Amino acid sequence: MPSRNETISLLKRYHLRPLKRLGQNFLIDDNIRDKIIGSVDPKRGDVIVEIGPGLAALTLELALRAGRVIAVERDRGLYNILLETIGAKASNLELINDDILKVDLSEFAPSGKIKLAGNLPYYITTPIFEYLIDNRRLIERAVITIQREVADRILAAPGGKDYGALSCFIQYYTRPQYLYTISRGCFYPKPEVDSSLILLDMLDSPAVEVKDEKLFFRIIRKAFNQRRKTISNSLASKAFGRVASKEDLAAALARARIDPSSRPETLSLQSFAALTNIIKVKGDVPLLGTLQHKIQ
Ligand code: SAM
Repeated sequence: MPSRNETISLLKRYHLRPLKRLGQNFLIDDNIRDKIIGSVDPKRGDVIVEIGPGLAALTLELALRAGRVIAVERDRGLYNILLETIGAKASNLELINDDILKVDLSEFAPSGKIKLAGNLPYYITTPIFEYLIDNRRLIERAVITIQREVADRILAAPGGKDYGALSCFIQYYTRPQYLYTISRGCFYPKPEVDSSLILLDMLDSPAVEVKDEKLFFRIIRKAFNQRRKTISNSLASKAFGRVASKEDLAAALARARIDPSSRPETLSLQSFAALTNIIKVKGDVPLLGTLQHKIQ
């Protein structure tokens, strides 16, 4: 793995600078590299897709241990460096110059599930989550580095300030686990925040049973939009009134055994599911857009 000085001179040799707009912060810490590789746990039979290999901090090590590695790098300049430096070093390594969000993962998982790994470019963390969830049936696990603050939100249990729509969304589809904190000093250039390494195990079926997922996420989003209000007040807004009347909302909260004066952040996925399955809706609930809309 290139050290800090090697990273700087490699970029210089190719007349490149780390691009902030592509979230380019390169890992320069061997110890953390080993921890990430150990957590991906590459096996001979594994197909691993790496998101944003950059200067190959993880790539070659993954290729040495896994059956097949597909490394997807959006930056043409870095892709060219990768071709020259590691392209010929492992016959089971494929380098692709593309945006990960445009890559059809089904091509790489003809007979089994793939593993996903990467120090994510932070500017597209949310779209990448959406991409992972959309592709969850093709993925066994994802081992990813993300901003610590986002990891805290993903992992949060009900009751705390970090628990919100993102926690519910990710915990509905996956079993997230905290692995390590990675200090900002382990990257060049040094990012403004620390990171966390997390593992997402994709669930075969969602964590709770809901009859209508769109309604479920609509209720969650609405509830957390005004998290300081009580659950009954935040869902009694005009916008939600198009979905259910105040009377039906009150009845559903009672039947789901949810105290109407409780704060949204105290409600578990099970409570949101119970409310969704019980509430009487007025008609067609408008479709939700992307995850960005679901979690904001
Ligand atoms: N894996 C390397 C490491 O750990 O040193 C680089 C990590 S850096 C945080 C993120 C990498 O993702 C950069 O190489 C960046 O160019 C690349 N990248 C940014 N957007 C991307 C996208 N949409 N698809 C694929 N790669 C992307």
